[in-house]
Amino acid sequence: MTSQAHAVWNSRMLIDGRWLAVSETLENRNPANLSQLIGQTARGTAQDAAHAVEAARRAFPGWRRISRIKRGELFDRLAALIQRDLEKLAVVLARESGKILDEARAEVVEGLHMVQYVCGTARQPIGECVASEVAGKDLYVRRKPRGVVAVVTPWNFPFAVPLWMLGPSLLEGNTTVFKPSEETPEIGTKLVELFVEAGFPAGTINLVHGLGEEVGDALARHDDVDVVCFTGSYDVGSHIRKLAAASDHKTCACEMGSKSAVIVCEDARLDLAVNAALLSAFKTTGQRCVSAGRVLVHRSLLGKFEEQLCERAAQLKFADPFTPGAFAGPLINAASVDKVLRYNALAKEEHATVLLDAGRLTSEGRGQGNFVGPFVYRQEYGPGVRTIREEVFGPHLAVIPFDDDEQAIHIYNDTRYGLSMAVVTENYRRWRLFRDECDYGMGYVNLPCIGAEVHLPFGGVKRSGNGQPSAAALVDSVTHKTSFTVNHELGITMAQGMTAGAQAEAEKSSKPAKS
Ligand code: NAD
Repeated sequence: MTSQAHAVWNSRMLIDGRWLAVSETLENRNPANLSQLIGQTARGTAQDAAHAVEAARRAFPGWRRISRIKRGELFDRLAALIQRDLEKLAVVLARESGKILDEARAEVVEGLHMVQYVCGTARQPIGECVASEVAGKDLYVRRKPRGVVAVVTPWNFPFAVPLWMLGPSLLEGNTTVFKPSEETPEIGTKLVELFVEAGFPAGTINLVHGLGEEVGDALARHDDVDVVCFTGSYDVGSHIRKLAAASDHKTCACEMGSKSAVIVCEDARLDLAVNAALLSAFKTTGQRCVSAGRVLVHRSLLGKFEEQLCERAAQLKFADPFTPGAFAGPLINAASVDKVLRYNALAKEEHATVLLDAGRLTSEGRGQGNFVGPFVYRQEYGPGVRTIREEVFGPHLAVIPFDDDEQAIHIYNDTRYGLSMAVVTENYRRWRLFRDECDYGMGYVNLPCIGAEVHLPFGGVKRSGNGQPSAAALVDSVTHKTSFTVNHELGITMAQGMTAGAQAEAEKSSKPAKS
């Protein structure tokens, strides 16, 4: 199969249960072959975003009153529809994002897992019952939906990441406005079509396409949005955090960039370490939030590790997503190509030892696409070296030598990000040290630093997140905890030993004194 075989597709927006055609559109081109127009995306406006928020607000009271289990059953239907369309969805996702078909399929499966998880949790407790100081009182802690949730998502996981957010938000009784990345509108629309087919009522899920600075910004600013669930770059996440901070009620859950790493200790199994580094750095062409831009290698293993890593990296097939045996596809757009090549050049300016530089890939029909191959370099750790600290988001990997575990921990932590960390070692004391001392949200032992599962929290620290993880943990961001106290005694007994005779005392003091 090739990505050439599809007709141009026109995206629509969904507001209050109605599909809207929009006259102004944005072009969507195949990243593996820019001469191919694959879609015309509706260019929504700030006004469309406002209409969608109003629709979500109107739908909220009715939706939250429906039994949680009934809401969960809609997710059961959604899961069946995703299973029915799995292959078609994977094709759309691969064509639009440039992910190879096998990986696109895995992403649809990941989205399906989230839907299955959400459905399963519908019958789980929504709070706790806790003891009171007063024997006759029962105390409850209950989660309540926050209201309207805006879901603003990136292009690199355009099916799974929206479901990480839409799933828990809707199950808990919130209503939503979803703004997919302008790079991947078609898969976002297909997802919303399935929600509608599954029977989610009008207004509970609304879809607005368009540019981030127009539609995304309007959603983040809108006063009637209660929560912004954002995944994307640090710069945009930081902007959204400031908008939320300036409002009286809005909260935000932000998942942002990283400079994740694999740490190869002196006792590591070399074959496993090389494989972990290759998968971490070059899967999805290095365009995962958790992609390793760094592999820290104990100096005693350096020569052999570099030799095996580069030999294998040079053989990886970066090709059209539908090419059999492809390992990874193109970069998403021309700006990404420029950025990656700029950082490759910067590594040279910063006196790195270049070990492999595949550069722009143009052979075998790749000249029309955004293809860039692996760039691997050795960089000694030092203050102010930018390439080992900044997110590149492409197939750009620094090999950083270290001499002992304490130094590896120091190097690992010396970035402004903290998302994912993998340590390769056979020593249980050693991985425990890295587990406790490194800054990350997702940690791995003897694995790549990619490959999370949906029933875990997904989030980072420092510039990678704001302490509001996504996936299974998103429930904390889209609900607020309320306490509820019920008295089963005939009279009133106050906590903390306070007297409870207020009424009797008041009555006594209001009676005229007897002479
Ligand atoms: P991006 O920040 O450019 O865009 C993300 C979304 O924000 C898009 O929908 C975009 O339209 C919107 N947006 C852009 N400007 C906006 C504005 N001013 N106001 C509101 N919304 C705006 O990110 P991207 O290029 O789509 O994705 C790549 C980035 O996402 C990388 O930095 C990657 O590390 C990060 N990412 C993080 C995670 C995570 O869980 N930590 C997961 C995937 C991707």
